[in-house]
Amino acid sequence: MPSVEVETSSPAETEDLAGQLAGRLAVGDVVLVSGELGAGKTTFVRGACRALGVTARVTSPTFTIGHRYAGAVDVSHLDLYRFRGLSAAEWGDLEPYFEDAVVFVEWPEAGVDALPPPRARVRLEHVARDVRLVAVDADDDTLLQGLASADPGLRHGD
Ligand code: ADP
Ligand code: MG
Repeated sequence: MPSVEVETSSPAETEDLAGQLAGRLAVGDVVLVSGELGAGKTTFVRGACRALGVTARVTSPTFTIGHRYAGAVDVSHLDLYRFRGLSAAEWGDLEPYFEDAVVFVEWPEAGVDALPPPRARVRLEHVARDVRLVAVDADDDTLLQGLASADPGLRHGD
């Protein structure tokens, strides 16, 4: 699967990268965002939300099933941290978040069998205190072309 790796050296750079990706997304698209605690998943989603016109405060939905924000399009932000697989009833609770929205899913591992096929997968890894390696995979190469190349502070990985 086509993939781009970018090293970011601040939360703002991660938000910028997310914003670039978000600008290429459409309603109905699902993006899986994985990485350990503190890797920057919520920071990434916050940047995507800003680029999609969300002005509300974007916080981690770890203790709720998810948030839905109104922007230029609706943006859903789910966190499956507490789940171990998804039952039909649990999927029933989540399904409305996927209607007429761009969807970002943190801790998607529990949902891989139940979620709609993702448009992109993002994985964040801790490199140093303010440095993260962000890998973006997508079947559709056009989603990745030139990602981060417009900002000299960001660079492509190997
Ligand atoms: P997660 O949702 O993966 O648990 P958060 O986005 O909530 O992670 O937290 C990431 C933390 O790391 C924040 O405190 C953020 O300011 C910090 N941070 C430092 N450098 C970066 C970076 N390059 N990208 C993203 N977050 C960063
Ligand atoms: Mg988070």
